Amino acid sequence: MSVILDARQLPEKICLEAEVVIIGGGPAGITLAHQLAGGPRSVLLIEAGLDGAKGPSERFEGEIAQASRHPTLGLYRVERLGGTSGLWGGRCVPFDPQDFEPRAYVPHSGWPLTFSEMQGWYRAASRYTESGSGSFLVSEIMGPDAAAMIEGWNDPGIDLDAVERFSCPTDFGTRYRADLDRASNVRTVLGAICTKLVPDPGRQTIDHIECASDPGRRFTVRAQSYVLAAGGLESTRLMLAANIGNDRDLLGRFYMCHVEGKAAEVHFKRGTRVTFQYERDAERVYFRRRFSIPSEVQRANKMTNVILRFEPPVIADPAHGSPILSAMWLSRTFLKREYARKLASFGYRGLGPTEGWRLAAGHAGNVLAGMPSLFSFAADWARRRWLAQRKLPYVALAGRNSTFSLDYNAEQVPNPESRVTLAGSTDAFGVPRLLVDWRISEQDTEGVLTAHHLLARALDRTGLGGMTIDEEAIRHGANAIGGHHVGTARMADDPTSGVVDGDGKVFGLENLYVSGSATFPTSSHANPTLTIVALACRMAKHLAGRRGHPAEIHPVTADARKRIA
Ligand SMILES: Cc1cc2nc3c(=O)[nH]c(=O)nc-3n(C[C@H](O)[C@H](O)[C@H](O)COP(=O)(O)OP(=O)(O)OC[C@H]3O[C@@H](n4cnc5c(N)ncnc54)[C@H](O)[C@@H]3O)c2cc1C
Repeated sequence: MSVILDARQLPEKICLEAEVVIIGGGPAGITLAHQLAGGPRSVLLIEAGLDGAKGPSERFEGEIAQASRHPTLGLYRVERLGGTSGLWGGRCVPFDPQDFEPRAYVPHSGWPLTFSEMQGWYRAASRYTESGSGSFLVSEIMGPDAAAMIEGWNDPGIDLDAVERFSCPTDFGTRYRADLDRASNVRTVLGAICTKLVPDPGRQTIDHIECASDPGRRFTVRAQSYVLAAGGLESTRLMLAANIGNDRDLLGRFYMCHVEGKAAEVHFKRGTRVTFQYERDAERVYFRRRFSIPSEVQRANKMTNVILRFEPPVIADPAHGSPILSAMWLSRTFLKREYARKLASFGYRGLGPTEGWRLAAGHAGNVLAGMPSLFSFAADWARRRWLAQRKLPYVALAGRNSTFSLDYNAEQVPNPESRVTLAGSTDAFGVPRLLVDWRISEQDTEGVLTAHHLLARALDRTGLGGMTIDEEAIRHGANAIGGHHVGTARMADDPTSGVVDGDGKVFGLENLYVSGSATFPTSSHANPTLTIVALACRMAKHLAGRRGHPAEIHPVTADARKRIA
């Protein structure tokens, strides 16, 4: 019998009961439910999206404070089983040890957890995300004889050993649905929107939650423990709306997204061998090298955690001369809008009113001049990106004359003034919408500038090349990474500095937990999902009250392994 239900088929005003209720069926919620599957506690997973739903939801829309460089709130979030993993790029990166430590020069830094406590959970998260063995060092993945990222590099100020790994990208809804359906202690209700958290009169526990399948059709859910896993913004929104977890006015503050941009080019000495493309490990999982700054160098420079990596040049600018990038730009209207937006971006300088036509002509010229190479690229791309289960993550192209563009991904410093609050308006279900006032600080951009200067100096010292840096682009062109919603219900040792404790339990409430990036007290440079999933595994152990290792994931069969290789 299927235990995946459609909320529209439930009797009206029904009260559902379970020992653990999980609100939200994205990577966080699915991992939790999956880890609790087969255990002694009954679990109810409440997911707002319905089967087949793909797009963003009007419910997510909200307001953006004036002058905040934050994308609209409907972008970068998906309402369906699997949540935003139906859209993600699959880049999997663990936080670095120093990300968990208090750093005197990063205000409000430090987690109630250490990196070594997280390591086992990261291994479990690597299995859930299908991103490989869990090692993130080239020297371990390929052995000591691995080709260097840059031949002849010998500067200890920049680390070339750490890599990022890539998931298939795994859609958690598709990948784990059958397991949830099979688990006799887990029920999943789709199309069920949690609209209100209702505490008991003494406000010590959550008494029940109110849910709806549409604005006129409501029901109730009661449980011993409630986990908010509705995404970095929605979990915070539900707590703000119920005025829960906000005794010290910390809820919604410290909002971070990561900053990203493209502001430099590296020119290598002629003949220098550079590994810039996506590589595969023994399990055929894609990984990619990058430049990172060792923790002692970060400390010496009092800088945030920033990485730099080779990426194609600004795609919108036809001056790159690449028929492949020009074809991508011309076909951007066929892409998902979350990706098309970045592809069309021309950096912080913007475009004049007539420049659109000039660009289109330039791109058309590149395509016409490079037809033969474009055809062979398209055939290879179709095979490795569209047809393969484990997809080539992105294009990796060498620049002309040994020149490469650099992207940066950077930590944001926790800032209490960067925050989300409730807007004056409500959605169709009566839930107050969010007002987002995302801020980027001088310390954030200084960290990015320092990382670029450190690499430029290292290139100079090694004599392997040089670098041009557009400092104005860093100062004025850094963007919030869409889809990374970090810090608004931060984890801390005590309630004076955070909203949840080290187990994700809301301070002052006995039975409410938050799972997801809202609980990260600092953001690292790393994409959040691997850490979200690692923390969800850890929370499952806490909720199950059991000792030992995380539950095994149903093994990928040899057949399936072949499919995703
Ligand atoms: C274009 C894009 C690319 C990305 N690429 C990467 C990447 O390469 N690497 C990486 O680490 N991360 C990436 N991310 C981010 C990644 O998708 C998120 O970190 C991840 O999905 C968060 O998981 P989650 O379970 O916390 O939240 P979500 O995935 O947002 O899931 C939350 C779920 O809760 C449901 N929900 C919300 N409100 C309610 C409610 N009131 N009641 C019931 N259910 C509710 C939603 O419908 C949704 O299914 C990307 C995001 C985007 C948009």
